[in-house]
Amino acid sequence: MSEAKEATIKTAPEALRFMLAGNADFTLRSEISGARYTYKIEKKEVDPKNPSDLEVWFVKVLSGPENTSDFLSIGYIKGSKFLTSKKARERGITEKTPSFHALNWAFQSFLKEKMPSHLEFWHVGRCGRCGRPLNVPESVATGLGPDCAAQLGVEQVKLGVTGPTGSVRDENQVWLDHKAKFAQEEAEQERRAFESDPDFRRSYREVSTQASNPRRRSMVNSHLIDQKIEEYKSTNPEAYYQDGMLDEDAAYRVAANKFRVELSA
Ligand SMILES: [Zn+2]
Repeated sequence: MSEAKEATIKTAPEALRFMLAGNADFTLRSEISGARYTYKIEKKEVDPKNPSDLEVWFVKVLSGPENTSDFLSIGYIKGSKFLTSKKARERGITEKTPSFHALNWAFQSFLKEKMPSHLEFWHVGRCGRCGRPLNVPESVATGLGPDCAAQLGVEQVKLGVTGPTGSVRDENQVWLDHKAKFAQEEAEQERRAFESDPDFRRSYREVSTQASNPRRRSMVNSHLIDQKIEEYKSTNPEAYYQDGMLDEDAAYRVAANKFRVELSA
């Protein structure tokens, strides 16, 4: 199995570079449950009239059996944010849709230079017999799709899972469990660093007492603003999106302004 995993990307900066390279096909797989999603991320051409605009990537997820054509849009990446598009929302895609949630969580981790534990990032391969794209990790690891493997009498590589198997589980729950496990490990790491490192303790105290340094205060503020926005969005989504008049991007900007003004008052 260790050889098979050579088709995976192991570090956060590499994963980020790959997914934003312009024309990336890849699969995220939970090592705990075996749950997986295949994505296609294509970069939008830069508008020559507005070359300084934030870069945009269109994100699609594989949603059918035909792995060359069954991709549906779930949103777009703009700068460091992954957002649902109006079209995707009309089809019922939200930030809680498992495929959106999984990629957003991985993307935000990569941006923080963290490779989530128990998450595998697979390149899409090509079948060594018929040349069609392969995105099921077992097929990528084998180098052959299931039909071609059977034709050649080759047994496909089996990838293990570390969590419970044999029961059909709710996909949303699978990702929430995965994320909870990761958060738990992260909290544990933080706790250990806190206990062993006096610098870490000091910096923790400084942030939590909102030091008088204006730069630091603005960092604390933007963190606070993000918190308030999250709260606002979850408790009053109608107001946040102004009854659907605003898209994700505009709603965020409006709310950020509102809280920035409130906090500086
Ligand atoms: Zn094949």
